[in-house]
Amino acid sequence: MSRPSCPVSAATGGQCPAGSVAGRSRASSRVGPRGCTFSGYCQPGDIHAAFDIPRGVDAEEWLRMRERKTINDLLYQDVPSVKEIGRMKNIDLLNADDHDLLAVALGAPARQVMIRAEEIGPATGWKDGYLSVEHGFCPPDYNESPGALANSPGRIWSDLCERMPGCVARGRVRESVAALPIVPGTADTVPDRALWAAVVALGMLCSIYRYEDKNDGHEGVAVSSTKYTPDCEMGDDLGEELIGIPRSIALPYWQVSRRLGRAIPHLTFFDQSSFNMKLKDPTSTFPYVGRFDNMEMRWPVFGERTEMAFQKGCADTSASFQHGPDAIASCQEHVMNRNIEGLLREMVRLKEILERMPNAFHSINTNPNSGENYVPGHQWVRWGKFSAPLSKRCPASSGLQFPPFLVMDAFLGRRKYESFLGAEGLHLRAWLPSNLRAFIAAIDYHYSIPEFVRASGDPRLMGVLDGIVEAYTGERGFMGTHRYKVFGILEIASKTGRTETNGLSGDADPNGKPWEETHKQFSEAMKERLEPFRGNITVEPHEMRGTFEECRYRSRVLSRAYVDTDSNRSIAMVTLDLQNTGVTFQPGDRLAIMPLNSWAECAKVAAALGLGDFLDYRVSLNAKWQRFAQHLGAVSHSSAPAHLTVKDILRRGHLAPITKELALKIHDLLRASSSTVVKVLATEEWPIRGSLGDLLQSAVADTNPHIWDRAFDLAGDMEWLADLIPVEIPRTYSISTHSQELLPSTVDLTISRAEYDLCATFAGEEKVRCAGVGSGFLNPFVSSGEDMMEDEEDILIGVSRPLNFQLPIDRAAPCAYFAGGSGIAPFRSFWQARLASHNNAAGRDLLYLGVQSREKFCYEEELRDYVDAGLMEVHLAFSRDSRGLVYDRRTHDLVEKEMPPRYIDNLIVEQGAVISELVMSKKQGGLGGYLYVCGSVAVFDSVMNGIRKAVYNHCSATMETTDMIVNRAFAERRFMLDVFMTPKPLPCNLPTIPLSQLARHTGHRPDTRMWIGVHGSVYDVTDFTPMHPGGTFIIKSNAGVDCSKSFDNLAHTNNPEVSSLLTKYFVGQLTPKPDFHNSPELGDLYELWSAYLRTTVETLVAHQFEMYEIMGASDDGTSDKYLRGSENIWSREHLVNIGLGVRMFYDYQSRLLQGGFSALFGPKLQELVLKLSFALADASASGTEMRLPDILGIIARAKTSPDAVVTSQQVSLVGQFVCDTSSNVRFAERGIFRYATKSVEMDIELLEDIREEACHGMDAFDSVMAMDVRSDSQRITVLAAFLMQTLERMAKRLEVFYTKLAQYKVYEPSLERNPARSRWQLVRRRVRDGSFFILTQQAVLGAAPAYVAAHNRGSSVDFDGVMNRIQATIRGAPRPSPTPTRLNAVHLARAATPPTDTSAMATHENNKSMRAMSAFIDKNMGSIRRLSRMPSVPLTFEEICEAVEQQDMLHGRRPPSPPSSHGSVNGTGSSRATSLERLMAAQNGRVLNTRTSSPMPGRMASRQGIRSPPTPPLDHAAALGSMMGKLNVRSRGGPVPASPAISAASERMVRPGRSMSMRPLPVNVSGSSSPAHGAKLSTSSLRTFKLGSERPAVKVAPTF
Ligand SMILES: Cc1cc2nc3c(=O)[nH]c(=O)nc-3n(C[C@H](O)[C@H](O)[C@H](O)COP(=O)(O)OP(=O)(O)OC[C@H]3O[C@@H](n4cnc5c(N)ncnc54)[C@H](O)[C@@H]3O)c2cc1C
Repeated sequence: MSRPSCPVSAATGGQCPAGSVAGRSRASSRVGPRGCTFSGYCQPGDIHAAFDIPRGVDAEEWLRMRERKTINDLLYQDVPSVKEIGRMKNIDLLNADDHDLLAVALGAPARQVMIRAEEIGPATGWKDGYLSVEHGFCPPDYNESPGALANSPGRIWSDLCERMPGCVARGRVRESVAALPIVPGTADTVPDRALWAAVVALGMLCSIYRYEDKNDGHEGVAVSSTKYTPDCEMGDDLGEELIGIPRSIALPYWQVSRRLGRAIPHLTFFDQSSFNMKLKDPTSTFPYVGRFDNMEMRWPVFGERTEMAFQKGCADTSASFQHGPDAIASCQEHVMNRNIEGLLREMVRLKEILERMPNAFHSINTNPNSGENYVPGHQWVRWGKFSAPLSKRCPASSGLQFPPFLVMDAFLGRRKYESFLGAEGLHLRAWLPSNLRAFIAAIDYHYSIPEFVRASGDPRLMGVLDGIVEAYTGERGFMGTHRYKVFGILEIASKTGRTETNGLSGDADPNGKPWEETHKQFSEAMKERLEPFRGNITVEPHEMRGTFEECRYRSRVLSRAYVDTDSNRSIAMVTLDLQNTGVTFQPGDRLAIMPLNSWAECAKVAAALGLGDFLDYRVSLNAKWQRFAQHLGAVSHSSAPAHLTVKDILRRGHLAPITKELALKIHDLLRASSSTVVKVLATEEWPIRGSLGDLLQSAVADTNPHIWDRAFDLAGDMEWLADLIPVEIPRTYSISTHSQELLPSTVDLTISRAEYDLCATFAGEEKVRCAGVGSGFLNPFVSSGEDMMEDEEDILIGVSRPLNFQLPIDRAAPCAYFAGGSGIAPFRSFWQARLASHNNAAGRDLLYLGVQSREKFCYEEELRDYVDAGLMEVHLAFSRDSRGLVYDRRTHDLVEKEMPPRYIDNLIVEQGAVISELVMSKKQGGLGGYLYVCGSVAVFDSVMNGIRKAVYNHCSATMETTDMIVNRAFAERRFMLDVFMTPKPLPCNLPTIPLSQLARHTGHRPDTRMWIGVHGSVYDVTDFTPMHPGGTFIIKSNAGVDCSKSFDNLAHTNNPEVSSLLTKYFVGQLTPKPDFHNSPELGDLYELWSAYLRTTVETLVAHQFEMYEIMGASDDGTSDKYLRGSENIWSREHLVNIGLGVRMFYDYQSRLLQGGFSALFGPKLQELVLKLSFALADASASGTEMRLPDILGIIARAKTSPDAVVTSQQVSLVGQFVCDTSSNVRFAERGIFRYATKSVEMDIELLEDIREEACHGMDAFDSVMAMDVRSDSQRITVLAAFLMQTLERMAKRLEVFYTKLAQYKVYEPSLERNPARSRWQLVRRRVRDGSFFILTQQAVLGAAPAYVAAHNRGSSVDFDGVMNRIQATIRGAPRPSPTPTRLNAVHLARAATPPTDTSAMATHENNKSMRAMSAFIDKNMGSIRRLSRMPSVPLTFEEICEAVEQQDMLHGRRPPSPPSSHGSVNGTGSSRATSLERLMAAQNGRVLNTRTSSPMPGRMASRQGIRSPPTPPLDHAAALGSMMGKLNVRSRGGPVPASPAISAASERMVRPGRSMSMRPLPVNVSGSSSPAHGAKLSTSSLRTFKLGSERPAVKVAPTF
């Protein structure tokens, strides 16, 4: 390893020579003298000695002068030779351009702006904006401006800001503001130094005033119309921003804004975050002072952690760029001075700064266990509303305005701002403070750094620039990480309370998923930034992840070394060349490597295909290989080679393992003639353990040579080769080395060879060991001779940084590393880095390593050296070796000791005393150590098991406390994981899992399992959830559904880390959509129903997030943890928290009631009713009149029933508490708590019941397809009838829900502490609002239905009735407002309270359904008319079927419904009712037997007055079976195999006493415990992969 050197003085020795003077407190010591701004240079030190500077001279100035050259030296260095001048036509060109001369004479523009800002800023209160070398865009002193404000009359504003969370909690914001006296914001009262604090304080006060005005308890369900009117002067004359805001804050806000150069008052994003912070410790400056952990919010408005975490996270993002402006200005100077080495240093520094920036995202975490970093997505909604601009003229308060982004765009020379986010960013740039604008302009318009780098041709500069581009705007860089973070939070927010999103994701979003649309917009903006460097990008950024596109550097294997005494070298240290690449890395980073196939594998393929003589032939490339070829060219900084040879394809393509796709391709090419291939295809697990070479070697022997030759034609340009062999994907390896060089010249990896036995099809009886592609290339079998061959070919590599696996900033913190096998790989870089930058005063480093035997103890020599020197403690567990080694703390030695073999968990338990202290936080009196785990999932499980036991043994009395202690360590980000495993082939012969089964596994109740579906497979991710780096909620929001789309968007599909882990959690394949033969109607119904099922699941899961918040428990809680500890949102400072708890519940419940659970009972359900009614009527043959369940009527009646009104009145009472200035809530606080608990519990129960019903409906599709009937019409008839019944039951459940909820009241004096006072308050309020005399007031129900059915409860309606209602709904639906075109408008829309305040997702989905219904009716108008006019002929059910059949015969299969030229929509005669009633009675009596046995529903029955609930969910199989009994089901030699789930359900059906139960059927919690829903119970195993069943339809000619 080369000796590290100081980037400034070139002095060697590993330490910056300036880093050793004690006690020197240079403000600028964090950024060294000009030219020495390497970010590691942050220690005080003797600069004079280090740089040979005379004593008494200002070192920085001296260095600056020493570096400064004459203009001539700079501009006339390259004057050509006499000869060259002689050949020149125009010698004038040799004179430097005026612009260059002037610029060199004046200095770099960006530096000049900075110097000016620093000179003028301190004396003028930084009016032009903060800009300095040391602090960048952040204030040099966070206390200065608030301090100045506090010393001025403007103090009244900051004092009120300090009271604000309390005022919000008590609902007293507006009174407090109105009570303020008017203090002007002019220079005589508010000095310049106080301006920034004044604008922040006043801006926040205006925003919260506006917010309170809009959200005053009338925005939800409300019966009171009394509004608060302040008794004070207003600022209406000061412009539209300040209309309706008291003059006491409006006037000074207007005045200070103008003094800061703001034409209209507005609050920027960084006003609210960066300028609203105070530092805990201003001396804690490494690596930057404004870190999350070193800041507090000065003036929170709401005062709870969502706001704090979010604002602090945003401030951290800006603060992490503290040294960025100086680095950028220095880059510009070096470009001007054409100083390549200086530029290199500064660019490396800038890259390090950018690479650090995404860390800020940690501080915004959706994981409830993340302590103060926890930001629940749905609470974010409130902040979104608060931060809305005061008027439509204001610039939006958006992160797009963050100066670091805008200056980086300028630095990289971004010219395209066409995307929505691009255009908005540019617009917001014009609203930045003047200094910042000037600085960005200086970078934008002068001395393009990327151009200089390109022109220099220096590969190091180009490599570092590429690293900067990636770190800033790449998929794994800041922008990519930002996008993923936003995706996750938005998904949760959109499914819950958020009504609008950032960006243009309104109606432009075709899928009703705003987070996907936002994701797309982010991608577009990323592409605009990437294009200048990566050319025309044809794929989305996330599609680059896990592909060759991530490997942007060229390298070579330099050596492979033994790291232990294992003669097989199953683990090796592999060193790669990094010379001239510009690659830098840090401990924890990973290398992605594009492996090359072994020569032996290439040879097998070449031999079988006869390519031996063609290895250097050019191959005609398909699109993917062409992109690869271009990529190779770009990486080599040469024009892309337009071709690749046969050898290239063989070496760089995917040859092993054999995927199903690859095997099918060969099968087709050989026209199904190879028995080997057929045998391979019949396998029961994929992929197959073997290679393409193995397959071809076997197949060539059993295939007709003519066919072979035709398939693999060597005569042409061999385009089949590129089609057959796809480009290989990269493998990831942890970096195992640390370097102190500015640009490291090598990198070490620790490679464990993945070995497997060749499958029996190829190996026969023999046992043939094979190596994985990547590990086999890097660490080949010693006997293979591969590593003896010279590595001439370049390999492609890339570097990535996991956010959650980095060393602590605090170098004195103790670190414990837990590793299994090759999991030691990253820890070598950790300990090397820690020990290199430390002396013995550093925190302890402890390694706990589990390996099989002494022979496999890696890096023993190196570790022993550290142990001997007392620098490390090493503890070992050998699982198959009794020759133990024990660490002796006294002698600093590893001592031999015979002991029984053990695993790492035993070792941890043994060392439990120390380990448990490391786990305990400092606040708990522990050491607050950092714990890192690396290895397979099994290693992780074992380590966690050991740690829990250790903590239990030493620090806690119960397992519950143990979990709390461990969770705390996770929350403090002291537990970090790097868990990975080699993927394993998955079986494909398991029974498949129906959608309904997946849907039931949402894991939202304690001790239940959580499943997700991804690309046809189902995974049980319950145990993985706590490990998910993005936070548990991200994964939970996809529970129970197919989340392939999110998986793709989040680039999980290509991510080896994810895909390999997933194999561990595989449960089975998802039952594919049934083959609906030729019935598109059935297919459409299937799609519609499955979408509805999905909505039920997503709604349930999303509501559960809010439910736990409302109940005061974290997400692992249940209702019994109600009002628990610090997570209690209901109280603040021992008083009821109206601002958070009461308001949150009010918003939540209002949303549900106003929308009437609109996601489930709104247009989506109506669309189902419409299409099912139509299908039923249409399939039931002419001459029949259908009577249909009155589903819409039931829903309408339920929503407007007296019970619903009572419920709404109760919620509106809660709303009154929000706006009631006399804070009467304290007289009904316990009543509200109880009411909230009960209602959210009932909400969830209702949602669970609806999901259960939807699941039954889903299963019916499978069952109906398994039955043998005469025509699809019959199928449609029975299925539609069944589904209609299911919907009817759902509607009735809604009815029962209201009835039950109406039993509870907010007003429960007996619950209160002072019942008499509660009673008196009620009377007093009623007297005041007049309701004492008029007790009934009309509830304002946002979603009052467009029609109200006649009171024909329990009866059915005819087809016309259904159509009329649906048409009325469509006509009455509000037109969607046009999509806002500016960000400002979007934010305003978000703050407005729409009448039906449903979530963004539900709104989108409902709009979609409205459109679909409208289109459906238009399209089928003719048929609807025809069906409405059918004569009434009494027919039996059998007769319907016969009629259907006759129709089928008449019209081929199914005739399209003839358009009707006459008649009206309402043409049905009431005389037909009798016959239809008879028909339905026949069906109901014998087929849909619940109708007769339970004459539903009726306002009746129980003594408590609760309506009888619907009977348990209908068993679809029993019901369908009964229906099919009437349809001459053809015998299949035995009964149709009903799934055990179905049988179990039918058993339940006949059990007495079940019919009154409202609880859903027991959900299978473990995936196996309940036979009713076990995965293995599906009937659908018939659809597992069978040869040919999934193949694309390829015409195969007979071969023999
Ligand atoms: C974040 C991370 C860090 C890592 N760090 C290290 C490290 O430091 N050291 C180290 O040695 N390894 C590390 N790995 C593992 C490494 O990336 C490779 O997974 C490992 O080397 C095996 O790759 P291979 O090409 O040799 O094997 P492959 O050729 O990919 O195959 C190996 C085995 O997996 C099976 N297999 C391959 N593809 C699939 C598939 N799609 N589905 C199912 N089964 C499949 C094969 O049949 C075979 O049995 C790390 C992995 C990750 C994700």
